[in-house]
Amino acid sequence: VSAVESRGGAAGEDGASLMGARVERLAELLRKDGVDRLLVGAPVDVRYLTGFTGSSGLALISAEERAQHRFFTDFRYETQAAAQVPADFAREIVAIDLLEGALKALKPRARETGSRGTLGFDEASTTVKQHVRLREQLPPGWDLMPCGGLVASLREVKDEDERKRIRAAAELADAALGEVLEQGLVGRGERDVAIELELRMRRLGAEGPSFPSIVAAGSHSALPHAEPRAVAIPRDTLLTIDWGAQLDGYCSDCTRTYATGTLSEEARAVYELVLRAQEAALAAVRPGPSGPEIDAVAREIIEAAGHGEHFGHGLGHGVGLEVHEAPRLSRTASQQPLRAGNVVTVEPGVYLPGRFGVRIEDLVLVGEDGGEALSGLPKELTEVS
Ligand code: ZN
Ligand code: ZN
Repeated sequence: VSAVESRGGAAGEDGASLMGARVERLAELLRKDGVDRLLVGAPVDVRYLTGFTGSSGLALISAEERAQHRFFTDFRYETQAAAQVPADFAREIVAIDLLEGALKALKPRARETGSRGTLGFDEASTTVKQHVRLREQLPPGWDLMPCGGLVASLREVKDEDERKRIRAAAELADAALGEVLEQGLVGRGERDVAIELELRMRRLGAEGPSFPSIVAAGSHSALPHAEPRAVAIPRDTLLTIDWGAQLDGYCSDCTRTYATGTLSEEARAVYELVLRAQEAALAAVRPGPSGPEIDAVAREIIEAAGHGEHFGHGLGHGVGLEVHEAPRLSRTASQQPLRAGNVVTVEPGVYLPGRFGVRIEDLVLVGEDGGEALSGLPKELTEVS
């Protein structure tokens, strides 16, 4: 392993203080848990803490002092890391293996200080092979401790910069769908509409869609995760569009269900039911209630109307650097209360197999006094042609 050490990033001052605040919050958690260093390798976690957007990066966070934070990458990313990773991190270019480089940076403990060191790692993103290497190459005086979910738990509460980015991603996605609706939908292939939606999101500045768009008409809308088909969208049916943009690393996620003409009484009634459940759950979003409690608000309304068995998925999920992250809103989610700064979706659905489905989804920022929907398109039943 050859290491070229450098310090001092060209990351803007704002970016540097932002990352610094996140790393400091993490260091506090580490001190509370008795962890001296934390290895961070999951790319979204690395990006969150260091701003580095490349695919090969590893951060070693110190609980003890800022001067000990280190960032490892390989030579392909030397320039990018210098531009993105703030000066709080000593940067090292590692020739062979990032993990090996990070372990070499740990000084043997017991001999020097008389006390052992604890190295935390994320058991969820560490492969069995990496774990074997960790155990074999761990310097004397160090112990390993699984610390999975620590960075993810920080990421659950979005800071001001993240809120701004998610809001912008949601606005961009709304604008792209608005453009697609203007072109008309009936008679066009589902797949064709999905491709155009993604193209428009990219033209408006998105890195890409935050997940493969769903465009599902008629009986296909009864599949919650329908794949768009090369089938023309017919008149007089329901059409579900579930889409999101990724902008500056952050995702959006939204669903609207439209009428492509005249609907049956039953389809209209199901639409109104899902909308009522969605708005009730939306109104319940605030700091305090848990994911299962918010889920129950929508579920009770849908169950009371006799459609409980047709709402087979959870009510929603957190959104941030990843389109599905904590906290979850579902029957089986953690009992931890929602916190101000969480960004979650509220997306009840009713699916009648072989017939039709309705899902309405908003992206919601949990504020001190309640939820604020970041998706702005109207929700009353709208006819598109
Ligand atoms: Zn969605
Ligand atoms: Zn969603």
